Amino acid sequence: MTIDAVCFDLDDTLYNYEQYARAGLESAAETLEMETGHQLHDELVELYFDENRTEGTFDTLLEQHGLSPELSDSLVDAFHSATTPLSPYPETVPLLGTLAEQYELGLITDGRGGHQKLDRLNIRRYFDEILVTPQIKRSKHESIVFEQVLDSLSVEPSATIYVGDDPRVDFLVPNELGMYTVRLHRGRYTELTAQNTRQRPDYRIHSLNALCHIVSTID
Ligand SMILES: [Mg+2]
Repeated sequence: MTIDAVCFDLDDTLYNYEQYARAGLESAAETLEMETGHQLHDELVELYFDENRTEGTFDTLLEQHGLSPELSDSLVDAFHSATTPLSPYPETVPLLGTLAEQYELGLITDGRGGHQKLDRLNIRRYFDEILVTPQIKRSKHESIVFEQVLDSLSVEPSATIYVGDDPRVDFLVPNELGMYTVRLHRGRYTELTAQNTRQRPDYRIHSLNALCHIVSTID
């Protein structure tokens, strides 16, 4: 079997998303203070991380303080507009550098602000093709997303590996298309289990360091 391309998810696959969330909450708290005078940074962090309110975080906070729900959109925007640098995992850059010498590299993310994240992580240059699915109003549940990237890279699914961390979205379509799939157990979804065999990856790893070995085994 020959491998021509390795494609990656971004959040929690190439860096720790918690960093992004912490920077985003700080930025949102600053916006909230400017607009209302309320200093709620610590409460926001507690809500998000300790109470695990990662969806509707701002709506909850605004409601708890009797503040206008209309502020929510600007807080979400502020969350995604932080500009502080982000750090890839220590092994990410060496891995991408090594793989880029031999394979086409792709990136497919459902996360908002994928391009800004790549700039903040300073890893954009490693990728031959990047698809941030919200920009084309699609998601990784749709095969066209993967097909588009493979077409751009001029590679066949059977010669491609997809690496992700979330069993709910990362492996179903790549499995159906006949790509090899690798799950990194790291970040928010480490403990999630696949709901059915179609969501199951071909390989599991606990560090990106193990990926080169898998790629060379398949290749
Ligand atoms: Mg992810």
